[in-house]
Amino acid sequence: MNPVIGVVNAGSSSLKFSFYEGERSLLSGQIDGIGVRVGSRAKNAAGQSIPGPDVLTKPPSSPAEAVALLPPWLRGVLDGHDLVALGHRVVHGGPRHSKPERVTPGLLDELAALSQLAPLHQPHNLAPIRAILDLAPDIPQVACFDTAFHHTIADVERNFAIPRELTARGIRRYGFHGLSYEYIASCLPRLTPAIAQGRVIAAHLGNGASLCALHAGRSVATTMGFSALDGLPMGTRSGEMDPGLVLYLMQNEGMSAKEIEDFLYRRCGMLGVSGISSDFRDLLESDAPEAREAIALFVHRVARNIGALAAALGGLDGIVFTAGVGENAAAIRAAVLERCAWLGVGLDAAANAANGPCLTTPGSRVAAHVIPTDENLMILRHTRAVLET
Ligand code: ADP
Repeated sequence: MNPVIGVVNAGSSSLKFSFYEGERSLLSGQIDGIGVRVGSRAKNAAGQSIPGPDVLTKPPSSPAEAVALLPPWLRGVLDGHDLVALGHRVVHGGPRHSKPERVTPGLLDELAALSQLAPLHQPHNLAPIRAILDLAPDIPQVACFDTAFHHTIADVERNFAIPRELTARGIRRYGFHGLSYEYIASCLPRLTPAIAQGRVIAAHLGNGASLCALHAGRSVATTMGFSALDGLPMGTRSGEMDPGLVLYLMQNEGMSAKEIEDFLYRRCGMLGVSGISSDFRDLLESDAPEAREAIALFVHRVARNIGALAAALGGLDGIVFTAGVGENAAAIRAAVLERCAWLGVGLDAAANAANGPCLTTPGSRVAAHVIPTDENLMILRHTRAVLET
């Protein structure tokens, strides 16, 4: 039997999975629309669509329940293979967990206590891990944290200007998208050796969006903070704004904490500004002035934050774009890079229109590239490394 390692990424209504032999993806897929209109899809090693797990006979009502649909499906599609471990994306490792760890009931309890810090992600990430611990306690599971890569950030960057007792209790910047940035950092020596040891800003621009300042491949600053709300505006999240606005909403609009949470996470960002869609494709295709305004605001804030992170780095050698928008939306990349001319970026418009991978002219002082991210591969590598120790 050939050993296979699975990678699981569970959200509020979806369960995404990949199964690897070595670093080769044998199978990947997802169960989504859980609790709404559940569906499943999958691809084999050749990238061809194959039927996903059966979600119709007994529709799962949560991602944890959806986990139970995997074993019977895997028996059919992974015949001759032996599932030896599972790696999971866990959004928050809190102040104590700076590297991936083997799951134990004790670790799960500790991570569950961090749910307050990431209420929209953490409980959903943990539920399938607990379900598998009950279902198949002998399968080793590894938790990989989106915060871990940012543990190298210095106090001056990490701490907020709040009373120190609160900082000591863990109220500080954590940063997210760490698995994506770690993957990008791991690619730099091979794909862009000229800037790998230098000062690079990686831009993970997807439905969630952030920037990370890398120096010699280590995180020194990032735009997301205590929660995944800070920094850049996103599909439906506000990004940074005056905390006084929260007070205003409570005191003058009578909004409760729950309503403000819904507002900041689900009704702001591109959706709020455009009133049209949270999806950048819809906005780019639209002629409506509101769609153009939303994109202009996004571009402005990305460029402004690139300036801030360049200051944190003390200069800039490279910019790397990744995730759905960063990898595909040439118009948004061009607009951002044009606004970075003052930093020494010389845009190669034709290369950018062709999605790179290099987006700048040979004489450009700052090199810009597209590198597709692969968070699952990062989780796989961590899972293997933890099992080997
Ligand atoms: P997440 O993983 O955070 O859900 P992704 O990294 O998949 O998000 O990015 C989703 C975003 O990328 C969506 O807003 C989508 O519109 C945008 N996107 C994907 N492909 C394209 C494209 N070809 N052009 C413009 N935007 C794109």
